Amino acid sequence: RAASMGYKTAFLEPDPHAPAAQVSERVGFGFAEADLEALAARCDVITVEFENVPPEALAFLEARVPVRPAGELFRVSRHRALEKHALAALGLPTAPYRVLAPGDDVAGVLGAVGGRGILKTAELGYDGKGQRRVASEAELAAALAELNVPCVLEGYVDFVRELSIQVARNPSGELAFSGLVENLHAGGILRRSVYPAAASEETELAARQYARTLAEAWRLEGLLTLELFELEDGSLRVNEIAPRVHNSGHLTQDGGGASQFEMQLRAALDLPLADFAPQLPCVMVNILGWPEDQPEPAWEEIVRLPGARLHLYGKAHRPGRKLGHVNVVGKTRAEVLEGAARVEAVLGVRL
Ligand code: ATP
Ligand code: MG
Ligand code: MG
Repeated sequence: RAASMGYKTAFLEPDPHAPAAQVSERVGFGFAEADLEALAARCDVITVEFENVPPEALAFLEARVPVRPAGELFRVSRHRALEKHALAALGLPTAPYRVLAPGDDVAGVLGAVGGRGILKTAELGYDGKGQRRVASEAELAAALAELNVPCVLEGYVDFVRELSIQVARNPSGELAFSGLVENLHAGGILRRSVYPAAASEETELAARQYARTLAEAWRLEGLLTLELFELEDGSLRVNEIAPRVHNSGHLTQDGGGASQFEMQLRAALDLPLADFAPQLPCVMVNILGWPEDQPEPAWEEIVRLPGARLHLYGKAHRPGRKLGHVNVVGKTRAEVLEGAARVEAVLGVRL
């Protein structure tokens, strides 16, 4: 995106054949000081779209060149306990939670979060990896012993739907919001995102307010995604935060507004911002690696479907791995939901 906006870019990446190399200069392969030095020397501003860049690497870069969003946001959001504490400090509601370490006495802990919960590794989890559902103290003790790393136990949230919203903020302090997106997960993995969400206007306003609170309190310089649970009564709980572009934001690529990728750049570059809700209803369907005993999906059937836009990432196939997505755009929510069901039929998705 940056290249098409006229910017010269450079990146760090271990794979010499990374797709970005077609439009950008790969100046190093990792986080060794020489690589970081080479990157800093070439850049006026650095942006990040991956949580697990080592914090020391971000600190090294920040001493040399503006890094947007700041390393501090990644340090907090990559660690579930720090993330939950930070949300609580700002008065944003989350599931009840307890921080646990291997060997901790779990007596009474599950009861304190509501009797049923999800134990999550504090760091490095994604797509529901490193999570165990627990419904008894014995299950909790066993899950903690099995995961064997610092964890956060969250009370189970009986949500009616999952939502996400994005906010961009530039160093001048301008803010811009995405639309409210509805997300469907299966097995901890995002399968489908729908815009607009079937939530009320009040719920959307509350989501925006939470996003605004975070962006302003953290003096965000970049883009941030907020994952939310909506309860029966319309109130929200924050699930997690990602200070970067997000899978649920991919539908901004084809919905007719600015994409989340452009917004992250605009914010990091201190360009003027404007709200970036898609102009058309849109559904994003994730393409996960198919089981080894099944054939590759019939891509041509997908590109023939009206309103369907196929995005394949060119990654090596592995069952369950996110390999691409399809955005289906149309005039009404009903139309794009029907289109998404057709895409899912071709992909063999059963939810
Ligand atoms: P990613 O970063 O890819 O979104 P993750 O591994 O960080 O995933 P979470 O977002 O914590 O995982 O959880 C994945 C999904 O599991 C959620 O989107 C939701 O569907 C379900 N889930 C997580 N926490 C809870 C909870 N406390 N109560 C009920 N469901 C939950
Ligand atoms: Mg996560
Ligand atoms: Mg999540």
